[in-house]
Amino acid sequence: MNLFEQMEKEGHEQFMFFQEKHSGLKAILAIHNTVLGPGLGGCRMWNYEKEEDAIYDALRLSKGMTYKSGISGEDFGGAKTVVWADPENDKSEELFRALGKFINSLNGRYSTGNDVGTNYDDFVIMSKETPYVGALPKEYGGSGDSSIATAYGVYNGIKACSKEKYGTRDLKDKIVAVQGLGKVGSKVAKHLIDEECKVIATDINDTHLQVGRELGAEIVDAEVIYDIDCDIFSPNALGAVVNEDTIDRFKCDIIAGAANNVLASLDYAEKLEERGILYAPDYVINAGGLIQVADELDNDNYSEERVMKKCEGIYLKILNIFSIAREKNISTAEAADHLVEERIKAIKYINTIR
Ligand code: NAD
Repeated sequence: MNLFEQMEKEGHEQFMFFQEKHSGLKAILAIHNTVLGPGLGGCRMWNYEKEEDAIYDALRLSKGMTYKSGISGEDFGGAKTVVWADPENDKSEELFRALGKFINSLNGRYSTGNDVGTNYDDFVIMSKETPYVGALPKEYGGSGDSSIATAYGVYNGIKACSKEKYGTRDLKDKIVAVQGLGKVGSKVAKHLIDEECKVIATDINDTHLQVGRELGAEIVDAEVIYDIDCDIFSPNALGAVVNEDTIDRFKCDIIAGAANNVLASLDYAEKLEERGILYAPDYVINAGGLIQVADELDNDNYSEERVMKKCEGIYLKILNIFSIAREKNISTAEAADHLVEERIKAIKYINTIR
């Protein structure tokens, strides 16, 4: 891989390697775009097979954060850290403190939070070395679990999809297939069940399946979830679930959920259109967590009320994207990208005023 070529192609500003050999820290930070503000993006820990995979992930995920922040109207740019290590075996105090020191040395050009493979305990440790960490537990002065805001945003996004497809935001009696009953998925399922939807759910974790049962969801095997005849498919587990193997299996009108990078590639946005399936762009509908962390980092007076109000606003944001997609005859994913790119362009001009 030619790194400079990749950075130029996708518009990345900066790429950093952090290494501290006593703790075993090997981390990569990619800063994609800081026109809107300093870089913000979670820290992923993953046992990548090779260095190139970690680099690719940092490039891809940091760009995604630029779009998520941009569409949410937040004044942050896109960035992401990936730690190349096994989250089951390689975590230690010194590793996260070393990473905290590197992040602190950037003096606020980048702030982070948790992601796949990292959890709140890791960030409590990191916060000994840097204040540039968001969504710490409430008892450590942070805003706490971000999955509540994310799930509320997803629920409002699903309502927008229903308005577009069925002419009503009322979800009563809709059949929803929920993939993943983790932190976000279980809360999305609860919102839906409270609104008298029929929820058919799956997970690969028995404890999480039990949570689903207790909520009143019908449980099915993980592999059959794509074949469920339903109104709405809500992916809340993995990325790339709309792919070559699944595209023809979906029997739904809407795909809307919290998972990042739902489409294996942008081509699938068009393929979903061809199949008459309405797609809620992932970084728009799942922005609740980012909105929460941005509020925490950007304000001396974090407000949960303000965050939940913004998550409610995802409803109108998604309807606007659908209307642009219709008007310009483009996919909903492309319409969302256009909106962000227009905002970044506009703010770039504003930034030249001195
Ligand atoms: P989580 O780890 O708590 O939950 C994920 C769940 O998916 C787990 O219960 C896991 O067992 C299940 N799962 C994994 N593979 C599966 C499979 N093949 N079939 C069915 N279930 C499977 O994570 P989360 O915080 O709930 O996040 C869920 C998704 O939402 C992720 O893609 C994440 O990147 C995205 N997301 C989360 C947030 C947030 O605030 N937590 C914000 C934005 C996006």
